[in-house]
Amino acid sequence: MKEFQTFGWYAKQISPLLPKEAFKPVPSRLFGGLAYLLVTFAGFLTIGLFDLHPFWYFMISIILGTSFAGLGFLGHEILHGTVVRKSWLRDLLGGIAFFPLCTGPKLWIKWHNVNHHVHTQDEELDPDAWPTLEKLTKSRFLRWIYKIPFQIRAFFAFCGLSVTFTIHSIKMLIHFLKDFHPKNRKVVLGQFIMPWATWITLLVVIGFEKWFFAFLLPLLIGNFIVMSYISTNHRLNPLVPVNDPLANSLSVTVPKWVDVLHFNFSYHTEHHLFPSMSPKYYPLVKKHIKEMWPERYHEMPMGKAIVALWKTPRVYFQQRKLIEPKQGNVYGSLGNGLNPAQIKFRKIELEKGKNLTKTAKDKLNITNVTNLMKDQ
Ligand SMILES: [Zn+2]
Ligand SMILES: [Zn+2]
Repeated sequence: MKEFQTFGWYAKQISPLLPKEAFKPVPSRLFGGLAYLLVTFAGFLTIGLFDLHPFWYFMISIILGTSFAGLGFLGHEILHGTVVRKSWLRDLLGGIAFFPLCTGPKLWIKWHNVNHHVHTQDEELDPDAWPTLEKLTKSRFLRWIYKIPFQIRAFFAFCGLSVTFTIHSIKMLIHFLKDFHPKNRKVVLGQFIMPWATWITLLVVIGFEKWFFAFLLPLLIGNFIVMSYISTNHRLNPLVPVNDPLANSLSVTVPKWVDVLHFNFSYHTEHHLFPSMSPKYYPLVKKHIKEMWPERYHEMPMGKAIVALWKTPRVYFQQRKLIEPKQGNVYGSLGNGLNPAQIKFRKIELEKGKNLTKTAKDKLNITNVTNLMKDQ
């Protein structure tokens, strides 16, 4: 068996083993979305109409943040066409579900379906992939970030999960807007402006304190929940020359009730094999993957994955390794020497008196680095 296989290759092996219903849309998933919408409106009304102690507002914020995230997971599923097939209805429902997280359906499909799914973990083409050492040497901003001590950076990266989805959405809008047909650019911009205009109107109507608990804090909580998954999806895996989901993706495990609340979003490797299939059937896909390619499949509890993210740097080195550039500490990635239960690194000795760019560039030319890492 080849080192890498495409997602289509795996899907072809598993498809005959799945029931026919697994390839049909599942509109009943919308009941979950309706429940989240009702809870969201109830939360808004309670905060808007009643003057309560901030503690109660805070509790409502947590429920709202959970609903924002749940709706986001459903929005992802809807925009893959696994709930309804008609494109206008798919975009409308997906737009509603992504409304709290302020992401428009057209932009999401371009960014996520067309680019992230097709080019997963391709250092140039995946808009969600993390940078390589080569890129780091070219970016003043990244070099500055990586001068911050590792533990402090890890702490801020963890806290940053509460804003990353929103910031990355805005970055994606700027990045992809030019690629849309001029006629569609207005629609994409409109879909971006509409949620923000609504939330800013809400601010004017209910005032800052209530708005903080009704929207801003839930947005941060929603961001944190969705990013806790998204950050574990691929970031511990290597960059790959072939879009092989078993090599470049990680499925996390969470308690069953969390999977219910989050529409089975934890099954990310399964999702990359069958993005057009309802996540309802992913437990079945997982069973087959684990029977057929157990040695290739990556899976771990969510908490363990987040701790592993905390303990490893986010710069790729020679595709399969992660590097802490300043110290020259080289870590493995999943399938390439990274053991999340016992994270270790190898140190590359650096020459004194060289700045980060020079050091990083020189490190790329160190011929014995490969040998250094082979026995990891
Ligand atoms: Zn993914
Ligand atoms: Zn997807």
